[in-house]
Amino acid sequence: MNVLVTGGAGYIGSATVEYLLNHEHKVSIVDSLATGHREAVDRRADFIEMDLSERDRLIHFVMKGSFEAIIHFAAYSLVGESMQNPSKYFINNDACSINLLDAAVAGKIKSFVFSSTAATYGLPEESPIKETTPQLPINPYGESKLFLEKMLYWYNQIHGMKYTALRYFNAAGASTNFGEDHSPETHLVPIVLQAAMGQRKNVAIFGDDYNTKDGTCIRDYIHIEDLAQAHMLALTAPRSGHYNLGTGSGFSVKEVIEVAREVTGKKIEVSVSTRRSGDPAILIADSTLARKELNWNPLHENIREIINSAWEWKKKFPTGYNDK
Ligand code: UDP
Repeated sequence: MNVLVTGGAGYIGSATVEYLLNHEHKVSIVDSLATGHREAVDRRADFIEMDLSERDRLIHFVMKGSFEAIIHFAAYSLVGESMQNPSKYFINNDACSINLLDAAVAGKIKSFVFSSTAATYGLPEESPIKETTPQLPINPYGESKLFLEKMLYWYNQIHGMKYTALRYFNAAGASTNFGEDHSPETHLVPIVLQAAMGQRKNVAIFGDDYNTKDGTCIRDYIHIEDLAQAHMLALTAPRSGHYNLGTGSGFSVKEVIEVAREVTGKKIEVSVSTRRSGDPAILIADSTLARKELNWNPLHENIREIINSAWEWKKKFPTGYNDK
């Protein structure tokens, strides 16, 4: 297919672009490089530096491009930042995304795949989380993603545009070429690997008094190449839908650090600090639906393999991409 990927210079976007290209799709990337990296753009793809706020340019571009599908990653994604600056999240993730939705309608796009999140569930009332679990976000980031899911529902009702909302749990790991490089870095796995590499003194564990087996938060870590596979399958999904993407297994912060010690052979010091606001104790996905309806078949569900892939990338790119 001829696919437009927004945010293709970002963490999950770059791995998905690579995956699509390896599977004979044609890819054009639109990215503002606000948080993405020029070096994370696969050289085989067309690249256009554009912000989604550029409404007329975007609509013109999509109308001219003969695209069959759009995969929409471009968004801000830091929970903590969204609690400080909600406007940034609602403007970019929602208002600017409306420009893309209108461009998709104008360009007669057949399939729209949206990067949603487990953060739309807030503090879930059941575990593992199903797609039918009530979505009650507890931060503007999750709210901004839920709002776009709702807009997609109406664009589908009114314009007939098929969409797939993919709700990721904790994206982790790396492909051979592309990995995780945020500034500032806030995610657990890259922070743990920075400590392993001696780039930070220790890992602060955000709370060890949760109601979990070892007191630390439990998350469902999913390899970015498995997320990439789900996006490709979603392109040709027969109907609109919402899907959780996770392994169904949860690992505590302490367990992740222990696995990282084994994988890297490094000591990795820790300190216990206070809870981070907005952190649910446990987030584990029930991904039965994606496996059944999308034929999703994740291949890297082992936490050791996930962390090992991130470590291999880290050793190759110790300071991440060189465009900072
Ligand atoms: N975490 C931590 N120390 C850190 C970063 C993260 O203890 O330096 C914890 C965080 O509180 C959460 C888990 O690790 O329970 C995963 O956090 P991350 O930011 O990677 O992903 P999130 O679950 O927020 O999407």
